[in-house]
Order: sequence, then structure tokens, then C-alpha cells
Amino acid sequence: MSATAPITLEMPKKPNIPTAVCGMLPPALEAEILAAKLPKFRAKQLSEWVWDKFAGAYDEMTNLPKELRVLLAEELPITPLALVKTTQSGDDTRKFLFRLADGNLIESVLISAPGRLTACVSSQVGCALACSFCASGLQGLVRNLAPSEITGQIQMLQSIQKERISNIVYMGMGEPFANFDNVLESVAILNHSKCAGIGARKITISTSGLVPGILKLIRDPRQVRLSISLHAATDEIRNRIMPINQRYPIAELMRACRKYQADTGRMITFEYILLDGITCTQEQADALARLLRGIRCTVNLIPYNTVEGLPYRRPPLPAQKSFLHTLMDARVRATLRMEKGHDISAACGQLRLQNLESLPSDS
Ligand code: SAH
Repeated sequence: MSATAPITLEMPKKPNIPTAVCGMLPPALEAEILAAKLPKFRAKQLSEWVWDKFAGAYDEMTNLPKELRVLLAEELPITPLALVKTTQSGDDTRKFLFRLADGNLIESVLISAPGRLTACVSSQVGCALACSFCASGLQGLVRNLAPSEITGQIQMLQSIQKERISNIVYMGMGEPFANFDNVLESVAILNHSKCAGIGARKITISTSGLVPGILKLIRDPRQVRLSISLHAATDEIRNRIMPINQRYPIAELMRACRKYQADTGRMITFEYILLDGITCTQEQADALARLLRGIRCTVNLIPYNTVEGLPYRRPPLPAQKSFLHTLMDARVRATLRMEKGHDISAACGQLRLQNLESLPSDS
């Protein structure tokens, strides 16, 4: 790519996102089709190809006249994304790098397990939050993704795999609640029965703890799941690794989580990164068990994924297990992620970082 956009913490001007089929709810797609003086049923045909038959190109849409396919291919892209490369890991995890219309790169990950295919999507190019263990934070924020650039990841993944995605996690690059409206619009499209048709309960939004976003989510009628990247049980440690904690300290974050649970009745997942000697200590495990008392939740312990150049280490397995057992003894539901994709750098932001360094300068 040519000289990349300067990294800034402020939101740069809105990029020019082309309208795409994957970014529209049925009424918007119908309006687009009618405005092009085409019959309304073409909208239904189009969305069936895009969302049910996993078409990757207009050529595949054999019940559309050839001239119409050529016209649509020029005027109305299926998604605003182009596949740059994929990386396969031995353990059923595949990582995808996409180029956006303005040249920026984003990543998505597909994780297969028996009976489910989970897509991990990005919500921003880069991230402003600068968590000290995360590759995305190293690059700063470039810009928010448009709804079509989020739903486009799912459409592209389905069309590449020719397989339906069953679960979505907003755990790729970016902070979803820093792009709240576009993320919720993408959820509406992915959830809609005439679009991707993925159940809201199969969609998880993960946040580093932006309290206003948690409170706003309470008012959303869709039953999406909420995951909180807690990562430390005391302000002292959390301030050190997540600058956002200075804005929304643990007590305020937990208050918002309690309100979310009281008002929605839904379970919460807490993500907790295991950094050797920092977050993976007996004191933090005890403090975490105390902090979560009375909240219906699951803790996902995530052993640190190595990011080159960062000073952290993954704790030895016995230390990871001891942390898990402290939680279990305190009757906190917890799992230790024997996570997939470590060999292909599937942690948030890693692939993009490596590719920014290795892509030819004119790409
Ligand atoms: N910004 C959102 C979602 C994206 S990150 C959030 O913070 O929740 C998805 C998850 O990966 C987060 O829990 C994040 O903290 C974690 N993560 C980032 N870098 C990591 C690393 N090097 N090793 C393990 N987990 C990491």
C-alpha cells in the first residue's frame, strides 16, 4: 500500500464507502433496485444469492440476465472488500486479510469446531485503546468500519467457504463500542432473516469496557451476548495494561455489568488474559473471585498470545491451571482456553501488523 494514512487518535474524515448489497437491510436494497428502474423481485433474488447461496461474484447468479449481471457488477458491489490472503493453521483456524476500498487492511478469523463455524470480525481499522499486550493497539486508530465493511467480512467468509457461519464474535481488530452505531447496524443486517439470518444469541460483542456502550446495549432489543475484556482484577494492574481503565475503572465497569445483568437477565462472559507474573498471580486470582461474586458469568482465561516486540510472557501451564482452580474453588465458572490459531498469530491485530510490514509498497 502507498504511504499509509497517518495514525491518529481522532476520528478522521468519513471515507467514501461504496454502497454494497451486503450492507443493506431489505427495504434499502429494494429502494436501490427500484431507483435503478429494475423490478422489485430482483432485490429478493440478489439477497438470496448473496446470503443464502453464498455467491462470491455476479457471474454465479445464473437466473439474472447477463447484461444485468454486468451492470450490477459495475454499479453495486456485493461487498466493499477484496481478499488479499488467507493463512491456515493446523487446528481448523483460518485467518483472512481483506483490503478495503481505500486501501486499508482488516482481518477476520474463522474457527471451526464440530457443529459450529465461528467468525471473528473486525470493527475498526486499528484501535485507539492501546492495551499494552495487543498488536492492534500498537498501530493506533485509522478509522471506523462502515456496516457494509463488517457484514462484508461475513459475506466474504461464507462465499469463500461456501458454508454457513453459525456464530459471530466481534473480537477482531478494534473496539466495537467505539463504533457503536455501525456495529449495531451490522448486527441488524447479520441477524435479519432475509440477510445472514444469524441468531442474536449467536452473536457476541466484546468490549474493553466502554461503560456507555454497555449501558446503550441494554436498550437494544436484540439479545446479543456481551463479553468484557477484564484482564485484571485490581485497578493497579488494569491501569498498567489497559489505559481505558483510567476512564472507566473496575468499580464503574462492574456497576454497568450488574445493571446490564439486572435489566436484561443475560449472562456475561469475562475475558481474562494470562500474563506471566502480572495478571496470572494468586493475588489476582483471589481478587477476581471476589470481584465476580454474585454475577452470573463465565470467565474465559486466555493465555497470552505472543506479539513480537512486547515484553510479556505466557505463563507456564501449571500457573494457568492454578489460576483456573482458584476460580473454580470459589465457584466462579471458568474455562482455560486451549486456544486455536497461536501458530498463525490469530490474536487481535497480529496478522495485519505482519502484513503491513511484508506487503509490497505499491500494493
Ligand atoms: N476491543 C475489544 C475486542 C477486540 S480484542 C475488546 O477489547 O474486547 C479480542 C480479545 O483479544 C480481547 O479480549 C483482547 O484483550 C484479546 N487480546 C488482544 N491481544 C491479545 C494477546 N496478545 N493475547 C491474548 N489475547 C489478546
